[in-house]
Amino acid sequence: MNNDKPSARPGAAGEAVGRDCLFCRIVAGDIPATVVHETDTTLAFRDIDPKAAVHVLVIPKAHHTDVVALAKDAPAAAADLLAAAAAVAEAEGVHTDGFRLLFNTGRYAGQEVFHVHGHVLGGEPLGPMLAPR
Ligand code: AMP
Repeated sequence: MNNDKPSARPGAAGEAVGRDCLFCRIVAGDIPATVVHETDTTLAFRDIDPKAAVHVLVIPKAHHTDVVALAKDAPAAAADLLAAAAAVAEAEGVHTDGFRLLFNTGRYAGQEVFHVHGHVLGGEPLGPMLAPR
């Protein structure tokens, strides 16, 4: 595992970490968040601008730019993140009717925060995954 390796992936250049990364600062407690679930390696908190009745962000506490970096550099943390997302879905009561677990990754997906996060979205019908082509 080497988190210091430069990467050619879009969004990875000049990557913000620590005090420059919004979600690292939430993990550190510098920025408040409504935390709904926490483990040794993960944190889940409500999205500040919810796009569904339930909208929770699930992150690894350690900084990884996106889901590709996480899977490559820290597969155990990736498994922890998936387990945490499932626990959040159960705790929020969205797993029975269904929910979406979404990882925006890179420019085309509109990723805004380059600390990997899964969006747990549910609590109401979510509509089509994408606009029809
Ligand atoms: P993405 O576009 O996948 O990078 O999603 C970033 C998400 O972070 C957006 O849904 C934002 O509403 C959310 N967000 C930004 N700042 C905060 C914050 N301080 N607390 C909680 N959610 C935030």
